[in-house]
Amino acid sequence: MLGVIAVDFGGTHIRAAYFASGEPPFQAHEKIATEAQEGPEAVIGRLVAAIQAVTPPHTEDLRIGIAAPGPLDHRAGLVLKAPNLPGWTNIPLRDRIAKRIGFPVALGNDANMAALGEWRYGAGRGTQNVLYMTISTGIGGGVISEGRLLLGKAGLATELGHMQVAQDGPVCGCGQRGHIEAIAAGPAIAERARERLRAGEPSSLASLPLTAEGVTAVEVGSAARAGDPLAVSVIREAGEAIGGHLASLVHAFNPEVIILGGGVSQLGAVIFEPLEAALRAHIMHPAYLDGLRLVPAALGDDAGLIGAMVLARES
Ligand SMILES: [Zn+2]
Repeated sequence: MLGVIAVDFGGTHIRAAYFASGEPPFQAHEKIATEAQEGPEAVIGRLVAAIQAVTPPHTEDLRIGIAAPGPLDHRAGLVLKAPNLPGWTNIPLRDRIAKRIGFPVALGNDANMAALGEWRYGAGRGTQNVLYMTISTGIGGGVISEGRLLLGKAGLATELGHMQVAQDGPVCGCGQRGHIEAIAAGPAIAERARERLRAGEPSSLASLPLTAEGVTAVEVGSAARAGDPLAVSVIREAGEAIGGHLASLVHAFNPEVIILGGGVSQLGAVIFEPLEAALRAHIMHPAYLDGLRLVPAALGDDAGLIGAMVLARES
């Protein structure tokens, strides 16, 4: 079977892995810093170096799949904009890498690739209708409908975090107002906790500096798991907001499994319980819940990498 190199990168790290048979597990792996502040040319150079580091000697035939931050046009191989990568506007990444490496390259949005990976090799195995959502610094997602990854006209589907849930809500990282990402992702959780700490509410977090670095979503999550009432309440509110949003998405896509990935979803019951209760409470008809499973992601940090492997293999 054909050898595949998969690459997954973001604002912090570049990861590349070689799958000799086009199936997990990988046989070689490289992880390096993105150094995003150095701009697109330098990052493309490091992507090429990471690919070369895992390429076996004397390779004659190889496919490469890249999971990149979006929005991106997968048909044109173009990264339109990457919020965490300064200078990345309309970068023809697919062709730039293909020219340097000399093998065919396929490009996919990182959240869509994670959905693809979880569907084929993770928590969605054996199903045909998957709703995947990742909740960390941002909220991303991907949808498998009737056995196909939904991409849309230019590959820009399905930005499940950038959907308006509150008309007058806070401004999102994308510039629009009231998106679920601006209400329930990590930075929003941390800001909500800081607001309540500033107002003088007692909490185990009260000794921390009330800055973006001092009180982070990670601290709020740890405090919630330890039973701190303020932290539990903030996480519960985020879970309820996400659960209500998921109910709308279930109405739109009628999945058989909802897979939750990302750091926030690793908090366990403290977020899953309010999230699931809100999801059930906002469903318009019980038929949507018939056989529906809500599960944590199974592949961890490898989901995007494995999805990019599937993309390369099947392109
Ligand atoms: Zn947004």
